[in-house]
Amino acid sequence: MRLANLDGRATIVTDAGGVDVGRASGGRFGPELPALYDDWGAFRAAADDVVAAAGPAGAQPIDDARLGPPSPRPAQVFGIGLNYKAHAAETGATIPKIPATFTKFPTCLTGPFGEVVLPSGNVDWEVELVLVIGTLGRGVAERDGWAHVAGVTVGQDLSERVVQRRAGAQFSLGKSYPGFGPTGPWLVTPDELEHPDDLALGCSIDGEVMQDSSTADMAFKVPQLVAELSAIVPLLPGDVVFTGTPSGVGAARQPPRFLAPGQVLETWVDGVGSMRHRLVGARS
Ligand code: ZN
Repeated sequence: MRLANLDGRATIVTDAGGVDVGRASGGRFGPELPALYDDWGAFRAAADDVVAAAGPAGAQPIDDARLGPPSPRPAQVFGIGLNYKAHAAETGATIPKIPATFTKFPTCLTGPFGEVVLPSGNVDWEVELVLVIGTLGRGVAERDGWAHVAGVTVGQDLSERVVQRRAGAQFSLGKSYPGFGPTGPWLVTPDELEHPDDLALGCSIDGEVMQDSSTADMAFKVPQLVAELSAIVPLLPGDVVFTGTPSGVGAARQPPRFLAPGQVLETWVDGVGSMRHRLVGARS
């Protein structure tokens, strides 16, 4: 199943268009996405019936500009650093023994299409596979990791590198300016993915590919991340996990490169979808 946030309403994406979950279920589920994650097991079991109840006439066209983040109000947003060997190497670091974890504050989340304001000339790109948690997880065993994931989506962990390195390390602030957490275009449930632990992902600036890798190169794979995080904090329905970025970030280049106003950033995960953002300068 593909599940979109269309004008704030949970919408199942079908070949015929988008089916509004709240209306098609007669108010049983939704209408917004957070309510679906709170009732994820029941909703997953009923989703096919919801689509059938709407019928082809109940599907509406999906306008990209109206799409919001698949989990718009998570209680927690986790970010994982240094989770791809080639990225750790390009930053001069080694893979740690446990996932290097920070938060992106939820106010940074935005949708898959539109503009992102650059607060400075030091903003870098980071394509990432993003998880949305569907079932409460505490002390989850690695073999059960995927079972707690409602689905995956595409993310950018946009990062202001100067702020990120201030005062020792300010990862959470440097990665949380408004618009620094685009996700979308929709949630894709794991059953739709033939190889959920081997997804090609990348991003480009004005068509020039900057990152091109696969989640198969992750040091800590999805089930391990769910296990490691839930060993310490409960994972709540709707929580969002940015799982780390592969090599090719701007800060590691010689000379370093950063995003500039007017550029178009495209970000994709094969089998999931792609996002497109135009960068704009801060208003003076
Ligand atoms: Zn990142």
